Amino acid sequence: MARDAASRPGDGNAFTRFFDRVDSALEPIFGAPLATGGLEQEDAAELRTRPCPVCGHAIFEHTFDDLSGNIVMTCPTSERLPERATTGPLNELGMPAHGRRLERYEQRASAG
Ligand SMILES: [Zn+2]
Repeated sequence: MARDAASRPGDGNAFTRFFDRVDSALEPIFGAPLATGGLEQEDAAELRTRPCPVCGHAIFEHTFDDLSGNIVMTCPTSERLPERATTGPLNELGMPAHGRRLERYEQRASAG
């Protein structure tokens, strides 16, 4: 007699049980809330008065163009702030490291 189902009744088959186990194993990783990297929601009006990191003028003086989903900010002046010298560790993009990466760098520096 051929079996109608590939499993015991009521608890799925080996295939679905495998993916249930995979789901339960991965849920703590992928089900966790997104890390904000230490950034918090800030007041929009306050953000518009902040100085631009490129030219130093307030953000509200800039123009924004939405080019096919890429928002391009244009500074009101061609003057640029001098680049800050960085002596600390850099992240994978060559920017000054912060957050967990900086913590790990400092732990490694103090350990060895
Ligand atoms: Zn600017």
